[in-house]
Amino acid sequence: MIRRLILSSKHIDELKRFTIDSLPQESCALLLGDINGDDIVVSRIISTKNADKSKTTFSIEPNELFEVYKDAENSGLDIVGIFHSHPAPAKPSTIDIKYMKINPIPWLILSTTNNELIVFLYDNIIRQLELVIN
Ligand SMILES: [Zn+2]
Repeated sequence: MIRRLILSSKHIDELKRFTIDSLPQESCALLLGDINGDDIVVSRIISTKNADKSKTTFSIEPNELFEVYKDAENSGLDIVGIFHSHPAPAKPSTIDIKYMKINPIPWLILSTTNNELIVFLYDNIIRQLELVIN
């Protein structure tokens, strides 16, 4: 059972910087890496455009998503997580929960109001994973 998402502090800085640059829109990115037992290890972050251009929702254009999948495959990695920011607490919204059920990989959410960074996974229930920064 997946329990932990492992990221480097460089990845966190990258996500925070990109999120600040995207304001006032929500930012989104895909996390590439490997699954290793109970751990998901992130090795690359690919930032994507928020196709919704919205302050409160996000979506990734199918063509861009396809390019990221190709890129991941070429580098022998999997898409192991979805990142987006919230102008609110880092808690999945009703819309997020709907899409988390369709994409049952870890969802990493950064709050731009209090800087909280929390990762959730849907597997029958929404549960929080341990975030490990190394
Ligand atoms: Zn959200």
